[in-house]
Amino acid sequence: MFVRAARQFLLLELIKGFYMTFKYMFKPRVTINYPFEKTPLSPRFRGEHALRRYANGEERCIACKLCEAVCPALAITIESEPREDGSRRTTRYDIDMTKCIYCGLCQEACPVDAVVQGPNLEFSTETREELYYNKDKLLANGDRWEAQLQQNIMTDGPYR
Ligand code: SF4
Ligand code: SF4
Repeated sequence: MFVRAARQFLLLELIKGFYMTFKYMFKPRVTINYPFEKTPLSPRFRGEHALRRYANGEERCIACKLCEAVCPALAITIESEPREDGSRRTTRYDIDMTKCIYCGLCQEACPVDAVVQGPNLEFSTETREELYYNKDKLLANGDRWEAQLQQNIMTDGPYR
């Protein structure tokens, strides 16, 4: 008697399982096949940092150090000196990405949109040292993502 009831119960559960599977076969998928498929990103997405240049290749950063001062994680280190033409530029601009909390304050503080957080979220590394970004690396990020960065700044502009 008990064995029969158990069998009926198991059969019922099996049918329920098949029904559930069959039902969801015809519903839209809620998962994506990452990294081959990706979801859209907000223009405000705060990903990997970059330093931008003007169209003529000149660095935007004027070494005001506001980003360094505002960074709550003390992740930014800047050294600077005046050029012969009297303008001030950085000689060192480092971001320790292992300290960064991706708060976006550096980007908000920058008066010339030089330091930005771009759309790149795929920058994992095998060593901690690789996450210590220097100026060359940050400028290279800026060069690589400039079109997208410019587009994001323009899209977000009316809301700033
Ligand atoms: S995002 Fe925040 S924590 Fe990261 S470098 Fe900028 S100010 Fe510092
Ligand atoms: S990145 Fe912007 S806020 Fe930081 S030192 Fe340069 S100009 Fe100033």
